[in-house]
Amino acid sequence: MLKTAIAPAGDNSMAAFDVERLREDFPILSRTVNGKPLVYLDNGASAQKPRQVIEAMTACYEGYYSNVHRGVHTLSQESTEAFEKGREKVASFINAASPDEVVFTRGTTEAINLVAGTFGPAFMREGDEVILSVMEHHSNIIPWQLLRDRLGIVIKVVPIDDAGNFDLEAYKGLLGERTKLVALTHISNALGTIVPVEEVIRLAHSVGAKVLLDGAQAAPHAGIDMQALGVDFYAFSGHKLYGPTGIGVLYGRQEILAELPPYQGGGEMISRVTFEKSTYKAPPHRFEAGTPAIAEVIGLGAAVDYVSAIGVEAIQAHEDGLLAYATELLSDIEGLTIHGQAREKVSILSFTMAGCHAHDIGTVLDQSGIAVRAGHHCAQPLMDRLGVPATARAAFGLYNTRAEVDALAAACHKVKDFFG
Ligand code: PLP
Repeated sequence: MLKTAIAPAGDNSMAAFDVERLREDFPILSRTVNGKPLVYLDNGASAQKPRQVIEAMTACYEGYYSNVHRGVHTLSQESTEAFEKGREKVASFINAASPDEVVFTRGTTEAINLVAGTFGPAFMREGDEVILSVMEHHSNIIPWQLLRDRLGIVIKVVPIDDAGNFDLEAYKGLLGERTKLVALTHISNALGTIVPVEEVIRLAHSVGAKVLLDGAQAAPHAGIDMQALGVDFYAFSGHKLYGPTGIGVLYGRQEILAELPPYQGGGEMISRVTFEKSTYKAPPHRFEAGTPAIAEVIGLGAAVDYVSAIGVEAIQAHEDGLLAYATELLSDIEGLTIHGQAREKVSILSFTMAGCHAHDIGTVLDQSGIAVRAGHHCAQPLMDRLGVPATARAAFGLYNTRAEVDALAAACHKVKDFFG
């Protein structure tokens, strides 16, 4: 269970976690795959959408859709109001100090690129250092490599131990006066490891470095509280949080965002344009060039409402129970290795099986209607560290059940019988 972030105040949890009731909110869960009931365990890649999100987006398109921030007509005003309400909902969900700290992006990837593309050139010089960990998703590696090519910055990498714990001592040793940014995953997408982010942030700030957390996996599994964390930047994606694709968030502390130059240029982000010189809006609009993802922001607002109504802590407790049960059942299977047994982890279970490739596991599981991810999880340096080309990954979400864990274990037994 995540102990590093606190659910926002006023969290209005349901009295009891009724998973069967919640499953009814997700239309796709009633379908079959290969003649079997769908068991959807690919939540780490993208989560399914509840009716409430789908309906909020449909209501926008059917009832009041128009471009935002521009028109004086009624539809534009209604759309703008709903869009900015989405920003307020997200701000409240992550306990930002103000909705102005919420920048909408296409997802985590774009949010990280935004920081690299603005904070990098504005605040980093040749020889300055950015600290990553070996667990990073490629989205939090490549933007820094591109910046290295451009500016000559230095990338330093925090290792993990064999269980997948973040090596805090090694991190301390990497911090120094050239460290300008610490850019770390909050929760590893391939191992489920929770990074001790409070300590990471405290230590980074003590050497004057800023901190960017990749919260793609934390947002769906944990309460994330920007003010309690005191983090400088935080990135996450709507689609892993039961919301739509094409929308994500970069949280940035107001005083830092105010110092950053624009990311992309275009409509919506300017105050005044002449051919000689243009001026830009204040954040967050400075970073939102062009027509935004209007219905997607409204859908994301519905997703955070949905998650908040169930209660982040209740979701965590349910998922922790599934992880513990799955770990117990899968540990009993001969030849199956679980990768990632960190002291603090969330409901992500990566595994390999002797004698077969992860893709074979994924294919056999699919025959039983079970969707898992099989591959390197966009974390090739981590796969190199683990000494495997790929793993199969079951990532449990709020709608998964113990019966589905039983189905997963039964299907893994089949894989063992087939390849073992
Ligand atoms: N970071 C982590 C830890 C992730 O798990 C993912 C997606 O799998 C990303 C970044 C990239 O997210 P997106 O593709 O939504 O931009």
